[in-house]
Parts: sequence; structure tokens; C-alpha cells
Amino acid sequence: MTYPRDLIDPIILKNRDFDLEGFVFGNGDFSPDIMLIGEAPGEVEIRTGVPFTGRSGKELDKTLAIAGLMRDQVYITSIVRSRPFGRKTIIDKTGQKIEKRPNRMPKQKEILLHAPLLDYEIAQVQPKLIIALGGCSLKRLIDNNMTISESHGTIWHGKIKQLGADSNYVPSQQAYDVFPTFHPAAIFYNRKIEPQLIADWEKLKEILAVKAI
Ligand code: URA
Repeated sequence: MTYPRDLIDPIILKNRDFDLEGFVFGNGDFSPDIMLIGEAPGEVEIRTGVPFTGRSGKELDKTLAIAGLMRDQVYITSIVRSRPFGRKTIIDKTGQKIEKRPNRMPKQKEILLHAPLLDYEIAQVQPKLIIALGGCSLKRLIDNNMTISESHGTIWHGKIKQLGADSNYVPSQQAYDVFPTFHPAAIFYNRKIEPQLIADWEKLKEILAVKAI
């Protein structure tokens, strides 16, 4: 999808006020029924320019297959398009200081900065079903008080959050079906959730069959 330059240019410019680098466009079928919304790109993605092409992308492909889906049937994007990085100084064996820039979760202000892009994409794609990958995506789309552990694996239906005037989120005009599930990278930190993650995607397969998507 191409975005209007007057939408992306000011955002890319303001990235400099934050620890954000690179820019990854949404990717996938031009008019899909299903839209996957992740958190933010990592190092691999800002190199390839394609969402979920790193380690978490391999996990995502496996889970898509459980639901009988392939990448070219869905649209994939993230709530923040640039890589949020932290700063860490380590001392190497020779005693030299080396600055590391590890991935980190996006901050509220960064999510707000990139909010018009996600709103634009959702309006363009008009998905029949949104899959919220992880807590950041769920909170951005529906409610800051919701958690993945409580809401994963079932459809939530209602108006989602969109950026309104005065940099506040307001309810969208239209209602959407949102299916929250774990971020694919979550199993790297907690293997115990794997059975729940697999069960979510099996459930999704049933939902897609019922909804004839
Ligand atoms: N995590 C995301 O949310 N998006 C990516 O593109 C990669 C990892």
C-alpha cells in the first residue's frame, strides 16, 4: 500500500525526536479480509522493509498455517512502523565501550505519533477481521486496560480507537471484529503459552469457516 506523502513525511521527520529508526510499510494482499496488526519492526524488518521477516516472522508463518492461511491472503502491519531502540553501553574484552541499541516496546508517545498511519491503513483495507498480535496492539486498538492473557482467542466486536482532534483517541465510526492473540515473539520469553497460542489459531480456523472468510 502506498501512503500519501503528507501523511508519512511529518511522521518520519518526528521520528528523530524519539529513539526510532527505519520505516516499514504494511505488506500483503491489496484487499484482504484479514488484517494482522503487530507491535513494531525489529532489526531484520527495517533492513528488509517487510513486516515479520525476522525470528518472530517464522513463528507467525507457522501459526498462520494452523489457521489455513498464507501471507499472501492477509495484510500485515504494525502499530508503530519504525524500530524502537534502547541504549545500552557494554565494555568489550579489550575494555572498549560499545553502544548497543536493543529492541524495546514502543512508548505511548511513539504509538500516538504513528497512529494516523494505522488509522489510514484500516480505513483503506476495510478488513472483515483484525487480528491483534500482542498486548500493545490490543491496547492501541481497543482499551489500555485489556490484557492478552484475559482476552485472547475470542472475537471482540465494537468500535476501535482512532486518533481524533487534540491528539486524543476517539471511537471509530464503524465497528470491527477483532481477534486478539499472543504476539508471535511471546513464546521466546514464555514457552508455556505455546499450547494457548496454537489453540487460538485453531479456533481462528473455525471462526473463518463459520464467517466464510
Ligand atoms: N514484531 C512486530 O510487531 N512487527 C514486525 O514486523 C516484527 C516483529
